[in-house]
Amino acid sequence: MKIRVGHLYPDYLNIYADRGNIAVLAERARARGHELEVRAIGLGGAVPAGEVDLFYVGGGQDREQALVARDLLTKREALHEAVEAGAAFLAVCGGYQLLGRSYRDVAGADLPGIGLLPLETVAGTRRMIGDVLLDCAWAGETLAGFENHAGRTILDEGAEPLGRVLHGFGNDGASGFEGCRHKRVYGTYLHGPLLPRNPWFADLVLADALAHAGGEPALAPLEDGLEREAHDVSARRARARGGRR
Ligand code: GLN
Repeated sequence: MKIRVGHLYPDYLNIYADRGNIAVLAERARARGHELEVRAIGLGGAVPAGEVDLFYVGGGQDREQALVARDLLTKREALHEAVEAGAAFLAVCGGYQLLGRSYRDVAGADLPGIGLLPLETVAGTRRMIGDVLLDCAWAGETLAGFENHAGRTILDEGAEPLGRVLHGFGNDGASGFEGCRHKRVYGTYLHGPLLPRNPWFADLVLADALAHAGGEPALAPLEDGLEREAHDVSARRARARGGRR
């Protein structure tokens, strides 16, 4: 099958090896006989309705977020429609914040979000930096990654986090929640990058995208020894010093 990825703002939101996440998806798709077709959707670019199985948006600093936020609003309706129709969406860090309703940056400026996820973010004065380990009980798995953000994200009552923080700060350093998931949309502060060290999550996102593409979402297991080792190294670091100021 061809899995069509729409990479939003790769020229602006691309820190923390976000491209590495796409490379992992491409490789894991290829290993199962599928092909990942990645197209960039930039400033002024249209969202090709119905032609994207997975949207991806990466991280960026406040400056880059301010540059894309207004443009993202013009894509709001098309992105909501796509998600309603079953498209998957993975958003990391700065991109995650913009999927909420709003982001107040460090300078106090309010950036509008597109409200795909039930949350709001306000920047604090101290950055939350370090390794993170999450318990994703809904999947029976853990996620290991690295966070670096000033934004404190508050989920609406009843919203589903991506995971519970075992070690690290997570959304706001206080709630014990990290990330958010809704339908096939996943938002998270975890990068480092995220997918190379969490192969189960890469496959979950791929399976969601395949389901939208009309394919069989079952993916044959891969030999993930190196990936598991990377996860374990990251998890150990999180246990040792995640969430320290
Ligand atoms: N600018 C946002 C923050 O610091 C997002 C940072 C990022 O993408 N790393 O909260």
